[in-house]
Amino acid sequence: MIPVRRRAPTPRLTRLCDSGTRRIKEQGATSKVAEKQWSNAEAAKTEIRTLLELMAPGILRCMYCLDNRGTDIDHFQPKALVPLRTFDWQNHLLACSFCNSNAKREEYPCDAVTGERLLIDPTVDDPSDHLRLLPASGKYQARTARGCHSIRVFDLNREDLRRGRVRMFRLCRDLLPVWHAKALRGDHEGARETAAALLDEPFGDVLRALLRRARTPAMAELTFGTELGAALVAWSEAASGH
Ligand SMILES: [Zn+2]
Repeated sequence: MIPVRRRAPTPRLTRLCDSGTRRIKEQGATSKVAEKQWSNAEAAKTEIRTLLELMAPGILRCMYCLDNRGTDIDHFQPKALVPLRTFDWQNHLLACSFCNSNAKREEYPCDAVTGERLLIDPTVDDPSDHLRLLPASGKYQARTARGCHSIRVFDLNREDLRRGRVRMFRLCRDLLPVWHAKALRGDHEGARETAAALLDEPFGDVLRALLRRARTPAMAELTFGTELGAALVAWSEAASGH
């Protein structure tokens, strides 16, 4: 998972969501009412999906696994548990059907004592505060309880994701030095193309994890060797506009 910046709702979206919430309230705010109102809300869903797609990482990737195409509007806090958040824009994320229907479903774990949310919301949290990605093995480890529950609920270490992250790690290892060599010899167009190819790949979390581990030139060289280390440092500098 990587951070996702939530866009401000359009006036039309606000209007559609407000009237959806009002109808749910008027009819008793049960999960059944929420389900019915949601299933009939084609205009709101189109507006929500359009905005979520503008926020999606890579080429319309799922905000949880970063692998599959994001096809579903996920209610982060399930509408069956909190019917009044069915039309809350802050509660909508773009997910693939596997993450939405097979992995997460109606789960929303909270701490039994404090009531604290135990699931990473990539539009609110920086997932790397809660998760550590080991790029060479493609596996996530938890840093916090929220990370631990997120790995379980989103099934983040399922085998297809793990293998996809390893593939992305190898791609980064091969392409970052190519990008760096082009940039160094002044082939800016070529460098831009290589960078765009990497950024459009699924599993943007892998590149982010590599950059995190290469925060200083010394760390980068020690961890990744001279060539890849220098490329990661240059990428970080380019990304931050240095
Ligand atoms: Zn997914």
